[in-house]
Amino acid sequence: MSNSQRTGIEALGHATRGLAWEEPLLFERSRPGAVGYSQDPLDVPAVEASDVLPADWLRDDIPELPELSEVEVVRHFTRISTWNYAVDLGLYPLGSCTMKYNPKLNEQVARLPGFAASHPMQPAALSQGMLELMARLETFLAEISGMDRVSLQPAAGAQGELAGIMMIRAYHEHRGDRRSQVLIPDSAHGTNPASAALNGYECVPVPTGPDGMLHPEAVAERMTPEVAGLMITNPNTLGLFEQHIARLCEIVHAGGGLIYCDGANLNAMLGVTRPGDQGVDVMHFNLHKTFSTPHGGGGPGSGPVGVKNILAPFLPTPLVRKTGEDEGAGYRLDYELPLSIGRLHGNLGNVAMLVRAFAYIRSLGPDGLRRCAEMAVLNANYLKTRLAKSFHVPYEGRVMHECVLSDQGLEDTGVTTLDVAKRLIDYGYHPPTIYFPLVVHGALMIEPTESESLEGLDRFAEALLAIAREAREDPALLHGAPHYTPRSRLDETRAARRPVLRWQPDSSS
Ligand SMILES: *Cc1c(COP(=O)(O)O)cnc(C)c1O
Repeated sequence: MSNSQRTGIEALGHATRGLAWEEPLLFERSRPGAVGYSQDPLDVPAVEASDVLPADWLRDDIPELPELSEVEVVRHFTRISTWNYAVDLGLYPLGSCTMKYNPKLNEQVARLPGFAASHPMQPAALSQGMLELMARLETFLAEISGMDRVSLQPAAGAQGELAGIMMIRAYHEHRGDRRSQVLIPDSAHGTNPASAALNGYECVPVPTGPDGMLHPEAVAERMTPEVAGLMITNPNTLGLFEQHIARLCEIVHAGGGLIYCDGANLNAMLGVTRPGDQGVDVMHFNLHKTFSTPHGGGGPGSGPVGVKNILAPFLPTPLVRKTGEDEGAGYRLDYELPLSIGRLHGNLGNVAMLVRAFAYIRSLGPDGLRRCAEMAVLNANYLKTRLAKSFHVPYEGRVMHECVLSDQGLEDTGVTTLDVAKRLIDYGYHPPTIYFPLVVHGALMIEPTESESLEGLDRFAEALLAIAREAREDPALLHGAPHYTPRSRLDETRAARRPVLRWQPDSSS
């Protein structure tokens, strides 16, 4: 690496640069007699554990615990916490995951003792504030999406999808109409076919057109009396708005099917257009994507599901209901929904996510939400335009919240998409989503979100453009990346050759 490149990287500023990477375990640091507390001398009689606990509760196989001072423990955990990447450290362009900045106000509101200290089994009479917040959040989400009813039950996007397809199945079965298939575009997120398959449906892939859109003919050809519905993602995972959405809905409805919308990408549509108005019957929201709230590393999440009135009888229970004067005005949980698909988890789910989403929506208001969508779209198009100089853009046209690049043009350098992603870590960034969607060879899927400033976008674009130059001049540098992390590359050669997701739609059918 030349000196000027190294200076470039340092100017970009790796958050963890300069810190020692070696960190012994607390067990290795332990010193006999070191303590992390100070206590007044005992002024009551000492009690042995065997005097107060049943004999079979006592164990003698407990390993020695490390002995350390408080400051040693605090420094240990603080040091290793800085090895992790977080949206509070820098741009986190993980396409489709919408890793936007989470305003600290939401955190403060979620920590209000009335919310944070309430017990999940507290009776409704003592949870009126939480229930009111839930009822109002349902109304906001219905208004934002154009749906009639919303249930906050599902604990993640994937569970929202599961609930949505369960409702579609319940709807058909209630009418005595057994159908066996669900149509799913070949660019779909893996959770779509998973949700359909878990409901016993056969997944019929619909190929994406050459322009990255789902075409009415492709759906019409497959729309038979066996088709329970179409699962569509809008904007799709190529970052494109499905221009034929209204026509697609008409075709599926005419054949007796329903439309599921994977709403994970609602970020791009907030305040601009509504899935409900486009003809969608049921959709999920990812509160932990669109409405901020920290996520990643497996949760916690929240994936409410919204429906049109025809599906309302099948909503999961319990539902939050506003009670009239006769019952003592307030809110209660309603389990009386005879056709409900049932309960999806214990208690009310990850309620702190609901509080954060509520605070986010209330603090931005309708105009602020619309501005989020506008900025998210502007940022993605800005990056796409800057990166198109060095990276291949497989689909023409304006993107919505994210842009997808391919590895075409890199291939003759021997550098893979995985190499580019790993090298980005050296520049201080979390890599984008890679090798997804499956319809793009060696995809790099970049979602900057609305949180980034123009300067931040420029720095990120410059890092990727520098990596494209490195790919031509010094491919070995990329094969060995990352070079500045506690651990260098694990053996991911297999991942480099094929995508991790196994759902391989046969686009020839
Ligand atoms: C994130 C995502 C999902 C699944 O949501 P989870 O909350 O992670 O379960 C589904 N579809 C798309 C397009 C997504 O981006």
